[in-house]
Amino acid sequence: MPASLLPALAEIAGAAHVFGPEADRARWLSDAAGGPDGEALAVVRPGTTEEVAEVMRLAHRTGTPVVPLGGNTGLAGGGRALPGSGAIVLSLERLNRIREIRPAARLAVVEAGVVLDTLHRAAEARGLRFPLFFGARGSCTLGGNLSTNAGGSNVLRHGSARAQCLGLEVVTPQGEVMDLMSELHKDNTGYALKDLYIGAEGTLGVITAAVLRLAPLPRAFATAMVAVPALADALALLNRLQEATGGAVEAFEYMPGAYLDDYARRFPDRRLPFADRHEITLLVELASAAPRDAAAGPDGRPLLSATLEDTLAAMLEKGRVLDAALAQNMAQRDEIWQRREAAWEVAQGSRHRVENDIALPLDRIEDFLGRMAAVLPRLAPGADTLVVGHLGDGNLHYTIRLDRCAKGGDAGFRDRLREAVEEQVAALGGSFSAEHGIGTSKLTTMARRKNPVALATMRAIRKALDPKGIMNPGKVLP
Ligand SMILES: Cc1cc2nc3c(=O)[nH]c(=O)nc-3n(C[C@H](O)[C@H](O)[C@H](O)COP(=O)(O)OP(=O)(O)OC[C@H]3O[C@@H](n4cnc5c(N)ncnc54)[C@H](O)[C@@H]3O)c2cc1C
Repeated sequence: MPASLLPALAEIAGAAHVFGPEADRARWLSDAAGGPDGEALAVVRPGTTEEVAEVMRLAHRTGTPVVPLGGNTGLAGGGRALPGSGAIVLSLERLNRIREIRPAARLAVVEAGVVLDTLHRAAEARGLRFPLFFGARGSCTLGGNLSTNAGGSNVLRHGSARAQCLGLEVVTPQGEVMDLMSELHKDNTGYALKDLYIGAEGTLGVITAAVLRLAPLPRAFATAMVAVPALADALALLNRLQEATGGAVEAFEYMPGAYLDDYARRFPDRRLPFADRHEITLLVELASAAPRDAAAGPDGRPLLSATLEDTLAAMLEKGRVLDAALAQNMAQRDEIWQRREAAWEVAQGSRHRVENDIALPLDRIEDFLGRMAAVLPRLAPGADTLVVGHLGDGNLHYTIRLDRCAKGGDAGFRDRLREAVEEQVAALGGSFSAEHGIGTSKLTTMARRKNPVALATMRAIRKALDPKGIMNPGKVLP
């Protein structure tokens, strides 16, 4: 993009919202995934959908690459402007209005730059909930959540970002506004275009607004840390709780003993859940909006808490649960969640690591961990692993740490380890990318593992929608 386009961008968005190379642009150019900072000719912050469309028309006319950006919390490198690409970073942060919340229809109409937690609070004030929760909720945006089809801790019950979305507004690479803002639960009017843009990581167009579903606000939570002897017992507990509650398991998270060891080292002032160390610990949460579940039963316990306690007690008796600590109040619930949501910070402790965001059928997770434990010492002597995950939906964050491994700094070696993980995942019917997306971090894996016909179809779609290839080039498609 020639420097002469900077005034044209300023004309569209206002000079106060265009940042050239001389400005301090670190918050847009260095992301949570780590690695080298991006480079951009300009960062622009349009304030309306029409301004986004004008920026896209300018970019299209001049063949300038555009990287859409939300909260810049993505972990796959998708929001990083690649060095030498001459891209404009198009930040959606000023499209931050909640246009409306309609409690009777249980929906919210939002702009793409609304921060996830802002919607949580606005929905809560109306007795409702937007059920997408994870550690970055204070800075990630709804546009980014939809563009990565984000998951988090409640996918088990509510599905991922795609499942929460009824309608979308998209600006095309040519700068046209596509209004798909359906508020309908049923709308069979041709191809599912909305779903094409969800999870596309900004490679097909810019999401500017969305219609989102809201759920009733739970009146009761029952939350516990639980230690079990084996993952098979964890799954037995999950299924029993689903049966006992009619599907009210809201989160079922995996935190092995090794993760809690690292957590204790990273946060020495914080408490651990149990006096003894256990190999397998879980965060279990039930939630219910039904008044009967929140009300005290004949023995004084709220029904939901009693169901959790009684199920755990029955399994404890049979040796299928080893220990359990139930939150007695919201402060204890927060403390339990704090342990789980520190995972990203805990992982930052190691310099050389191979991060894998994988999905597996629930009953094959134990097999995967066993297979990796068998091959890893031979492949990478000195390596250890940091594992944490959304066990209820089969998503593991499986990180191989190489700081004590002689070849840890060798990128080729790290890729061979990634390949070893991919092989086990593929053999067990899993996916190499569960919720963080492809970005740039999984391009090699995408080339190796994605079905070639599927890849060719994706390339054809991209070419049809963006023949000049200006939307977030170098991402998702190898
Ligand atoms: C501590 C921590 C915990 C996390 N936990 C989870 C988790 O549990 N589950 C999970 O799924 N993710 C998790 N993430 C990853 C990240 O928060 C999500 O991917 C989030 O959805 C990204 O939103 P964002 O607004 O920050 O997007 P960005 O990082 O700004 O962008 C992500 C991608 O989307 C594209 N994009 C952004 N906005 C738009 C738009 N409006 N239109 C078109 N394309 C766009 C970008 O080009 C980029 O490719 C975590 C991250 C951190 C730092």
